[in-house]
Amino acid sequence: MQDKYFELLVSTDGAVNDLVVGFLSDVGAEGFVEEENELKCYFAESKWNPQYKEDVVRFLGHLRSEGKVGKYTVEVSEIMNQDWNMKWEESIVPIEVTDNIAIKPSWKEYNGSAKIVIEIDPKMSFGTGHHETTRMMVRLLEKYIKGGERILDVGTGTGVLAIAAIKLGADRCIAVDRDEWSIENSIENIRRNGVLEKVEVIRGEIASLGDEEFDFEVANLNRNTLLYIEPELRRRCKPGGVLLLAGLLTLDEEDIVKSYTKSGFKVVETLREAEWSAIALSK
Ligand code: SAH
Repeated sequence: MQDKYFELLVSTDGAVNDLVVGFLSDVGAEGFVEEENELKCYFAESKWNPQYKEDVVRFLGHLRSEGKVGKYTVEVSEIMNQDWNMKWEESIVPIEVTDNIAIKPSWKEYNGSAKIVIEIDPKMSFGTGHHETTRMMVRLLEKYIKGGERILDVGTGTGVLAIAAIKLGADRCIAVDRDEWSIENSIENIRRNGVLEKVEVIRGEIASLGDEEFDFEVANLNRNTLLYIEPELRRRCKPGGVLLLAGLLTLDEEDIVKSYTKSGFKVVETLREAEWSAIALSK
């Protein structure tokens, strides 16, 4: 393939890669390669607009005014498709999330001792297992799934949490995402992991689901969405059910806990990694 791509190289001295990824995903970036203080963002030629460089610079200026970043540089270069695809594939390595659970892409071997191996081809959908929020959610799933549950996975992305839940013994899972690309990718991953008959994937928002209640709900989204969908999660969670939340920054923990405990959930456990928190609640 000789398709031309544009690479935006964002170098910063702060932990802002996730924020930049969020910002650029919305305008059409198709791939990201993360290195320590560098983020490479790829746009197909048809999706590229030179204005994006200025937009990112302005966005970083805004983050600087909030004290989240100090110095930064943004550079643009042209690149051939294969180059970044190869680099991206290399950057996805098998990862042991717990002693018992590993996540790997189909193109890499895993030779470790974890008994549950989840195969995820991310194709740019979020949820490779390389993000703190996904890893914390898998750890909490391992701890709180007892077997036989009916699960609701809101914002399934690659399907990773739905797959993990079934492999850990849950009975059925409804996995929802509003993004068409995630729907395709999650179905592919769910099939690849042999759990297709136990997971139903639905495109849309939680509010469009029926009134079915669940024993166990997971939602790895972001602060505002978590606050917004709290009533929807509450009314679908059985009394005694478990709810796992992630995608929130530690500094937003208080807001989330306040909103969820006000309505009858109790905090059971909180995990924190880098700037992220994940919370296990019971109803
Ligand atoms: N569950 C995966 C992916 C989390 S990323 C993991 O833990 O790794 C969040 C996903 O939620 C994205 O795929 C995004 O498309 C989806 N999403 C965001 N807001 C949503 C909403 N309001 N309703 C449904 N899906 C949503």
